[in-house]
Amino acid sequence: MSMPIYQTSNFVFDDIGKTRAGYDYSRTANPTRKVLEDTLAKLEGGHAGFAFGTGMAAITTAAHLLKAGDHVISGDDIYGGTYRLFQNVMKNHGIEFSFIRLNDKKSIEAAIRPNTKMIWFESPSNPLLNIVDIEMVASVAKKHKILSVMDNTFATPYFLKPIEFGIDMVMHSTTKYLNGHSDVVGGALITSTEELSQRVQFYLNALGTCAAPFDCWLVIRGIATLSLRMKQHAENAQTIAEYLERHPSVAKVYYPGLKNHPGHDIASRQMKGYGGMVSFEVKGGEKAAHNFLRRAKLFALAESLGGVASLAEYPALMSHASMSAEARQQCGISEGLVRLSVGIENINDLIKDLDQALVNR
Ligand SMILES: *Cc1c(COP(=O)(O)O)cnc(C)c1O
Repeated sequence: MSMPIYQTSNFVFDDIGKTRAGYDYSRTANPTRKVLEDTLAKLEGGHAGFAFGTGMAAITTAAHLLKAGDHVISGDDIYGGTYRLFQNVMKNHGIEFSFIRLNDKKSIEAAIRPNTKMIWFESPSNPLLNIVDIEMVASVAKKHKILSVMDNTFATPYFLKPIEFGIDMVMHSTTKYLNGHSDVVGGALITSTEELSQRVQFYLNALGTCAAPFDCWLVIRGIATLSLRMKQHAENAQTIAEYLERHPSVAKVYYPGLKNHPGHDIASRQMKGYGGMVSFEVKGGEKAAHNFLRRAKLFALAESLGGVASLAEYPALMSHASMSAEARQQCGISEGLVRLSVGIENINDLIKDLDQALVNR
């Protein structure tokens, strides 16, 4: 009932040049990894799945589909590490980037150049939970023969399947909700066509970015409870977002499940639920935000997200520290912003913790 962990680097051949079950070396393919990869492909409705050592290893592999001289249109409010890879690494390899808000067709089409080869984005985005109209982006990309890639870490395939909306490739940090227990780092790419699958498999093997068998086993185990966890994450997050909205110490709440969220209608159309991430601005800026984070107890002060236990963090100095102050300001990451990864604990305990942490003493 449990897939064994094939903790082996290599496999015995049946004869010269003839493998036993298609496996020769674990960088190329491993049976435990294959189970995870097939599961991911099924969940996302894709052609094939690929498991990587980290989310960044998956993004690095996807970036190698490009070559020097290519141009990428990227959402401006993406994961800090993705921004750092694009801005401080891939640019040095001759790849050009435009970081823009992907909220209307005109501005995307205005950013397209003859050498534009990829559109990269997240929805809901990190940390401001901005919503992108996925069908619109996919149709622009298709029209101009540009590869569209969406980081689906925040929503998970339980709430959103980008390939259904015409996206070419989906990326995940499996570190987050897919594993769900804060005990592994991992990444994934899910492709929509045979041609793309072959290219990704080539680069995974050539770059050596694949996931280890034990890590794959942990993610397989996590995925078994994905639906139960996501339901509870979203239910708790909705209650907390509504609570924060009413709180006198809170200036602004970012959660796509709130009716006044600018992306609420689009999110309702393309998602089956709004996820477990809530960001909010504390009145009083940096000092007030730090006070909240130091007082919170059930919400542990930690980066990352998507685990069963609730977390709180300060994007400006933690998850998004790799962005310049100017870039942060431009995309709206303010001094008072706090990001919550709402866990699956009892909601009354979570509200009680927020209550005591938000009191200004
Ligand atoms: C964490 C994260 C990543 C990077 O994944 P790692 O597993 O930390 O390398 C990429 N995108 C998003 C949205 C993330 O939250």
